[in-house]
Amino acid sequence: MARASALVEAQNTLTQPIAPWLQDLWNGLPFTDFPHAVLIYGQAGIGKYDFAVKLAAALLCECKDSEIRKPCLQCEACRWFATGNHPDFIALVPEIQRKYLPQVSLEGSQADAPVRPIKAVEDESEAEGSDKKEKRFIAIAQAREVIGSLGLGSYRGGNRVILVYPLEQLKPEAANTLLKSLEEPPPHTIFILIAARLDRVLPTIRSRCHLLQAPKPKRAIGLSWLQNKIANEKLKAISALEVEALYDEFGGAPFAVYESLLARNNQDEKDELIVGALATKNLLQGLAKGINIDWLNIAEKIHKAPAPILLTALQRWCADLQGLTQANGIRYYPKQTDVLKVLAKQVRLVKLMRFWKLLLQARRHEHHPLATRIQMEALLLQYQNIFSD
Ligand SMILES: [Zn+2]
Repeated sequence: MARASALVEAQNTLTQPIAPWLQDLWNGLPFTDFPHAVLIYGQAGIGKYDFAVKLAAALLCECKDSEIRKPCLQCEACRWFATGNHPDFIALVPEIQRKYLPQVSLEGSQADAPVRPIKAVEDESEAEGSDKKEKRFIAIAQAREVIGSLGLGSYRGGNRVILVYPLEQLKPEAANTLLKSLEEPPPHTIFILIAARLDRVLPTIRSRCHLLQAPKPKRAIGLSWLQNKIANEKLKAISALEVEALYDEFGGAPFAVYESLLARNNQDEKDELIVGALATKNLLQGLAKGINIDWLNIAEKIHKAPAPILLTALQRWCADLQGLTQANGIRYYPKQTDVLKVLAKQVRLVKLMRFWKLLLQARRHEHHPLATRIQMEALLLQYQNIFSD
């Protein structure tokens, strides 16, 4: 689930408009004669990274129509970029940041993908399985591999873009390697470097870059962007006051607030699934007892799980029961075949069908259930009933 969200996030980076407070910076970009290295700097969490990814896409876009704003999102280069397959885009980012890059689609259906797709280069710290802290750094091997490949021309004959983020996390040896290629830039190669603190960037690197200062948004503008984002992406609703409190807590960095809300959302989804799985197990154990189900006790055990998960399990169980009574066999719970066969002999078919209708009704209201506990008690009592006259 987290993966799917990350994918959505990566695609958003390209399709979403530039954040309003970065629009002027974007409009001023020297696209006609682009420098071989730019250093985007400014407070963390205000959207520099998304800006840079979009800039990379624009520099690689092959759309010939000068009227169309780049990245056009239509041309071959743009499509490859959006799926994480552009061979001339190299991202030197730490492991934990990589999920926000455009990536290969989950279905892996890239029939026209180039021969050697370069995603972000493998992080050596990951291979060694060292601690999480390491994943925040850009590995030396990564930098070396990237810089080493620069002698070759670009794959598509156009620009090649190397994104380094965050520059502060480049280890000294890697920084030296980078510096060497900044001193003698390979043709058609553009470096996009991102840093939160300009004073932490090596002066030798800084002096070789075109500096782009990313401004922090005014509070009202940042807040309204954030509110739109929450509404558009259907994040769990939180009050305007809460949003404002978070906004200030994050030092007026809208992207940072957004990321934290997204993470919270994903965690909630994960928690629900875990609770749901445990409750389903308890529910099935109860259902397996047929007429002897201790419905009060089971309802007590499961009522904190989301109603849709419980109702789905109930429906599947009953579908299997029904399948057995009509010699259609078992579809959902083959491991419970023995139990289900015994129950299928005891069940009153007419009552089972009536119970099925009750379940359908319950599903229609599952997203605003009364109290799940009361609903489950009632349903499980009815379930007990289908085994007696
Ligand atoms: Zn394009």
